[in-house]
Order: sequence, then structure tokens, then C-alpha cells
Amino acid sequence: MDISIVIPLFNEEESLPHLAAWIDRVMAAQGCTYEVIMVDDGSRDGSWQVVERLHAQNACYKGVRFRRNYGKSAALNVGFSKAMGDVVVTMDADLQDSPEEIPEMRRRILEDGYDMVSGWKKKRYDSKLAKNIPSKFFNWTTRRLSGIPLHDFNCGLKAYRREVVKSIEVYGEMHRYIPVIVKWAGFTNIGEMEVHHRKRQYGVTKFGMNRFINGYLDLMSIMFISKFGKQPMHFFGAVGSMSFLFGFVAFVIVCTLRICGRISLTHSVWFYVSMMFILMGLMLFLAGFLGELICRNSTTRNHYLIREEIIE
Ligand code: UDP
Ligand code: MG
Repeated sequence: MDISIVIPLFNEEESLPHLAAWIDRVMAAQGCTYEVIMVDDGSRDGSWQVVERLHAQNACYKGVRFRRNYGKSAALNVGFSKAMGDVVVTMDADLQDSPEEIPEMRRRILEDGYDMVSGWKKKRYDSKLAKNIPSKFFNWTTRRLSGIPLHDFNCGLKAYRREVVKSIEVYGEMHRYIPVIVKWAGFTNIGEMEVHHRKRQYGVTKFGMNRFINGYLDLMSIMFISKFGKQPMHFFGAVGSMSFLFGFVAFVIVCTLRICGRISLTHSVWFYVSMMFILMGLMLFLAGFLGELICRNSTTRNHYLIREEIIE
């Protein structure tokens, strides 16, 4: 199988037939073997019936249907687990992404050796206030924090080498950070390609303004986990020690001053400050210990990704 196209969809019944016809046209011109995996993320319209019809007409079309709406990340994750193609492409179902970009993305993976090629909607056709301006800021922070030089992290159109999608797990709302997850899994050859973007023709966007708040919270947790996920004590222990040390030194000074008769303990604000820092330090340490216990019991604690092996 040359290409797997994974399409998460939620209430997109009008778009699907047009999208399928477009994909078929592009793929026929390429002459390669392909499969289209449509993951119905709990649609409440006739989307699943469309998927069934597409499958009946052409066995390249495959479908997975969730019992309820789990979110785009879950849909992508299931699509990744089913994909069999050498190159796996993801795209949105709403006709905003163009299948015409797929051959060039595939070429870059096969010939230029990229692990992943991410689309860049340089000219976006979404509402300026709700999407374009916040997303510029969002991309800027993600770029700075992750060190990955992409302009557009959250583009639905992306292509991967098969090994990459089999090595990552996308959950929660982490689909916005797939390049970060990919880099963290050890695939560093991440490229970007300018793609055409179009106005949504049918239906409505599924993501409101709250995605920016959640997006930033997710970014913080993903950065924290990638740094300290396997050794929480390195974070909590360090911050806890600093806090404890500061509190302890302040406490010793306050006590010395008290012994010299300069101040009264309970009237000095520094007495309470030192106590607070000592207690905070102990609590952070405790959090670190709990984190280590959780890591020790995690079934994935020894989950390494092996690139090659020479074992006789
Ligand atoms: N989607 C999904 N589950 C959800 C929300 C969205 O599978 O809970 C799909 C949706 O059908 C579309 C893609 O994810 O194919 C991108 O969604 P949308 O176009 O609403 O996002 P936007 O382009 O507005 O950022
Ligand atoms: Mg869209």
C-alpha cells in the first residue's frame, strides 16, 4: 500500500462525497495504491451512511465509527493504528484542505527523507478575529517553546512516514501538537510545505474560542511531560529544595535575631515567610515522590523506540 489517507470527521455529510471524488481524481492521476480511512467521530448527521456508501462503491474507502464524539485527536489516533500505507496523510473532511497537495508531500517524504511534512496555510480563509490572529500568536509560542521551526502547527494536512505514526500516541486535544510529539519520539526531520486553503463550504467549524485556553494548557503539559515526564523528582525536587533552603536560611536568621533580642518572633513577618517556604518545599518534595511512585508503576515506563538493531 503506497498511501493511507486518514480523515477525522464530525458532522460533515455534505462535504464527504465531494472530497472522495476529488481524492479519487488525484489518486488516479498518480497511479498508486491507496486507502482512505474515514473516522466518524460520533457524527449525528448522515455522515456514516455516506461512508458506508463510499465503501460499497470503492473498497479503498474504509470506515471506523465512534459511539460518541471523542475529539479529533482520538479519531486521528485510531486512523493511525489502522493505516497500512508507507506514507500516511491526514486531512480535514471539510474541503478546506486540498488533496492535490498529497503527491508532493509524499515525494518529500520518500525522496527528501522527511519523517513528517506539515502543511502551512500561508493564506488562510477563516475568520480573522476568531482564528487567524490568535493562531499566529499560538504558533509563535509553540515555535519558541518546542524549538521546531514551523509556521503552522495545527494544519490538518500533514504527511508522515508509517513508522512515525506507529510510534506516537495522540490523545486529549494534542492533535495541535503532533509535530512536538513527533520530535519528542525521536523523529527530528520535520519539514513544512505551503498548502492551499479554502473557505469552509458546508457545515460549521467544530472548534470555538475555548480552544485557545485549552490549547495553551495542553502546551504547558506537553512541555512539562516531555521534560520531566519520566523523572518528576528532577522538577519537584529542585524547586522544593530551593524553597526549603530559602525558608531554612530565613528561619535561622530570624532565630538568631531573636536570640540577640533584636526582634520578637511572632511579630516578624519573616518568621511566617520562612515557615511558608519550608512547608512549600516539603509539599513539593512530597509531590515529587508521588510522581516517582506513579512513574514506577506505569506500564510504559520502559517504552523505548528502537531505530535499528544488530543482534546475532
Ligand atoms: N473533527 C472531528 N471531531 C471533532 C471536531 C472536529 O473529527 O470533535 C474534524 C472535523 O470534522 C474536520 C476536522 O476535524 O474534518 C477539522 O475540524 P474543523 O474544520 O471544524 O476545524 P477548523 O478548520 O475550523 O480549525
Ligand atoms: Mg476546517
